[in-house]
Amino acid sequence: MAKSKKIKNGKSIKEVAKLKLKLKRNRCDKSPLCPVIKICTLDAITQKRRGFLNLFADYPEIDPGKCMGCGVCVDACPRGAIYMKPIDTKNKNKSYKNN
Ligand code: SF4
Repeated sequence: MAKSKKIKNGKSIKEVAKLKLKLKRNRCDKSPLCPVIKICTLDAITQKRRGFLNLFADYPEIDPGKCMGCGVCVDACPRGAIYMKPIDTKNKNKSYKNN
């Protein structure tokens, strides 16, 4: 399980869940039966439009403001489409670009 904080250069860094969209493998398939949406106890993951026709479904969205970085969704995604990304804690919506 991913940890919510790790030490880098003596500083603790918060991580939030991110969805892989650019890779061909391990990519989210927009499944209407997505288990990670149900598993997040903070409702940080939402999917606006669901459907079995992949073309009209939306990718799940992860709200970095709600995510506490527990990593449960990383383990729950059957496609491995979620990873943890360190964020700048001063600006929660801004991710570190070099990671
Ligand atoms: S890391 Fe935890 S809190 Fe964040 S979206 Fe995943 S399950 Fe929810």
